[in-house]
Amino acid sequence: MMTPAATALGIHLRVLVEDSSSSAAQVVVDAPVGSASDEEAILALVEGADVLTFEHEHVPNALLDRLVAAGVAVRPDAAALVHAQDKIVMRSHLDAIGVPIPRWRPLTAREELDDFLAQVGGAAVVKTARGGYDGKGVRVVRASHEVADWLDAMASGAGVPLLVEEKVPFTRELAVLVARRPSGEVRTWPVVESVQQDGVCAEVVAPAPDLHAGTQAEALEVATRIAEGLGVTGVLAVEMFEVPAPDGGDPRVLVNELAMRPHNSGHWTLDGAVTSQFEQHLRAVLDLPLGDTSPLATWTVMANVLGSSLPDPTDALAEVVGRDPQAKVHLYGKQVRPGRKLGHVNVSGTDLADVRARARAAAALLRGERNG
Ligand code: ADP
Repeated sequence: MMTPAATALGIHLRVLVEDSSSSAAQVVVDAPVGSASDEEAILALVEGADVLTFEHEHVPNALLDRLVAAGVAVRPDAAALVHAQDKIVMRSHLDAIGVPIPRWRPLTAREELDDFLAQVGGAAVVKTARGGYDGKGVRVVRASHEVADWLDAMASGAGVPLLVEEKVPFTRELAVLVARRPSGEVRTWPVVESVQQDGVCAEVVAPAPDLHAGTQAEALEVATRIAEGLGVTGVLAVEMFEVPAPDGGDPRVLVNELAMRPHNSGHWTLDGAVTSQFEQHLRAVLDLPLGDTSPLATWTVMANVLGSSLPDPTDALAEVVGRDPQAKVHLYGKQVRPGRKLGHVNVSGTDLADVRARARAAAALLRGERNG
C-alpha cells in the first residue's frame, strides 16, 4: 500500500519479501526474496538505499545496530523499535515517561500471578512479551493454572517472557496515528475508534464518534509524547483503551499497544485523509516535510475483509463496486484462509449510520456473504 505513494513521489522502493508470491512482491518491481533475519539479504537490500524501514517488527535488532554503525539510515532505529517488539520494555518506558497504562508487572513465577490476581480481585490478562499479534499471546485468566503451559515453557527456558496486567473495564478501543520525522516535526491524525472481534480489528471509525474534548486532547498528547519520548521516526500507531474517569469527568485513556509502521487502524487514511499513512511514512523516514492529516469527510469507516467463502474476493468485485460506486476497495492479493485479513473497504460520507452500513455491506460481499 506504500507503492502508489512512492510512485507518485518518484521514490524507488526495494522490498525484501519472504516469498515471491507475497502481496508486496505482486506490486513492487524490485523485490528480492529473503528472510528479515538473514544478514546477507539485508546487506544486499540496503545497498545504495537512502533509508531502511519496516512493514513489520520482526527484525533482528543487533543487525540493525550494526547497520547504523556502518552509516545506514535505519528508521525507526532499533532503540525505538524494541518498544514495539517487547511489551515489557515498552511498559517500563511508558511508566518512566508518565504515559497512563494498565497496572502491570513482569511474570517470572506462578506465585507472582497468584499475588497479582489477589490484588486485582478477579480477572487479569497475561501476555507474552514478544511475538504476539492479533490477540495471539493474550489470555484472560482468573487462576494461574490457566497459563501453566506458558509459565512452564518460560521456566524451562523454551518460552518467552510474560507479563500480567489488570483486565481493563474499557468502554471502547481508540487509536491514534502519529508521524514523526528525524528533524522533529510531528503530526497526528484524528483519534479513531477501533472495533475488535476475537482480538482482531474488524472496523475503524474515523473520527471516533462522541469523543469528549478532554479525552481527545489526552489521546493526542499521549501519542505525541510517546513518539517524541521513544524517538520514533515514521508512522506510529498507539492503541488505547477508553475508560470512565473516576471523578465522573471526561473519559481517560490507557495505552495498550504500539506499532511502529503504517497500521490497520490507519487504513482509513488511504481515502479519508489529505495524506495517507503510507505517504506520510515515506515522507517521515526520508525526513521530508510531513503532509496535512486533515480528514476529507465528516466520517470514514474502514471495514476489514476477514476471510472469505469465495475462492478469491475479487469474484465479488463487480457486485461490490456496482452496488456502491463510492466504496473504495483495497485487496491485498493474498490466498484465502479463514479469518485472514484479505483487504479492506473504506466508505466516507456525512451520515455515520449509512457510511458504516455500506462499509460493512461491501466487506461482507467480499467475504462471500450474499445478504451483506
Ligand atoms: P496483540 O498485540 O496480539 O494485538 P493486544 O495486547 O493488542 O494483543 O490485545 C488484543 C486485544 O485483547 C485488545 O485489542 C483488547 O480487546 C484485549 N485486551 C488486551 N489487553 C487487555 C486488558 N488489559 N484488559 C482488557 N482487554 C484487553
